Amino acid sequence: MSTFQAPKGTYDLTPPRSATFLAVREAISAPLRDSGYGYIETPGFENVELFARGVGESTDIVTKEMYTLTTKGGDQLALRPEGTASVLRAALEANLHKVGNLPVKLWYSGSYYRYERPQAGRYRHFSQVGAEAIGTEDPALDAELIILADQAYRSLGLRQFRILLNSLGDKECRPVYREALQTFLRDLDLDEETRRRIEINPLRVLDDKRADVQKQLTDAPKLRDYLCDACKAYHEEVRALITAAGVAFEDDEKLVRGLDYYTRTTFEFVHDGLGSQSAVGGGGRYDGLSEMIGGPELPSVGWALGVDRTVLALEAEGVELDLPATTSVYAVPLGEEARRVLFGVVTELRRAGVAADFAFGGRGLKGAMKSANRSGARYTLVAGERDLAEGVVQLKDMESGEQTAVPLTEAAAELAKRLG
Ligand code: ATP
Ligand code: MG
Repeated sequence: MSTFQAPKGTYDLTPPRSATFLAVREAISAPLRDSGYGYIETPGFENVELFARGVGESTDIVTKEMYTLTTKGGDQLALRPEGTASVLRAALEANLHKVGNLPVKLWYSGSYYRYERPQAGRYRHFSQVGAEAIGTEDPALDAELIILADQAYRSLGLRQFRILLNSLGDKECRPVYREALQTFLRDLDLDEETRRRIEINPLRVLDDKRADVQKQLTDAPKLRDYLCDACKAYHEEVRALITAAGVAFEDDEKLVRGLDYYTRTTFEFVHDGLGSQSAVGGGGRYDGLSEMIGGPELPSVGWALGVDRTVLALEAEGVELDLPATTSVYAVPLGEEARRVLFGVVTELRRAGVAADFAFGGRGLKGAMKSANRSGARYTLVAGERDLAEGVVQLKDMESGEQTAVPLTEAAAELAKRLG
């Protein structure tokens, strides 16, 4: 292993690809910011108890994938494997559900950690942008979130994604279904671990990715046949609102998601260009979570979209984001005096809001012009001793190749004008 290698299952974001990640985070959060969602940031770690209770002791996330640690002071902490439990915990701590109007609408963006088997699209450190709407039961809220995620993906230029939709029922009808499913599953030919799962979290068996298991599940009882009237009506309303918004979705009766706390609306965004790690995002309603972590009854709904897989989806579709060059003006000084003078012009430009950069390190003209090209700057400013003696700088338009001498004192203003 080389000394410079990032830990297994992780990778660094470096320029130029890192710009795409920033743009994806920006694109996913933009529709949320325009829809009344406020930014929230929580610590990268929490008391392990929060996830054990809030994510569920029987989930893979808690039993296998969590990075836990004991501090020198003896606290049991876990690096956050997901965002919802932390965001709800923070909202309860800050009493956001009491001080403001419901729902409390929040968005977040950050790093998450899961000890998984690394493979394409599956890492031990990854990045999500998420949204949670806390404290209100309203099918329009579920619909809003699905529509906003669709809008975010479309704004990025993604086309080959699909929305899978299901309802998991509530505390009234789900237990009845759970029992029927258990009875069905107990008769199947399954390994020990899966048999254990039948008893703890039978819905998760439906989520099993192995083909031999999926084949046996063809005749499994369908949750849809067990939904109570209230859940059915709620789900129909969500479907109607999404349909009216022109957002296409597929009903997927087997969609259950990995986390224990979901109720009613459940959805996943899958992308068809990603192979087996096809889920780019997912979410749903979690009416029971607040009480599970010791809070009041707060029916809520949310989603998290994976930034890493969204970038992979863009690459799979060959979508090039239209990322404007970060530098507009690149200054190339020739000689000591020019260095001081042009550095001053660059500072002036930056203060005027023009993105400018400078050929540091006193390189020759050729190397410096290469850097200017690479920066993507529309204009370069070049000045040598003779220019300074005449009180001018050479302003070169990198698109047309045209070069003009501009009085030094007017250079910054002229550039600001040309760049609009
Ligand atoms: P999967 O079924 O692929 O394991 P999940 O159900 O565990 O996904 P969620 O907990 O719903 O995923 O997280 C939401 C999104 O976060 C996923 O759709 C995915 O884009 C991203 N994500 C989850 N785990 C990882 C990971 N280990 N590496 C990269 N992205 C991830
Ligand atoms: Mg997972």
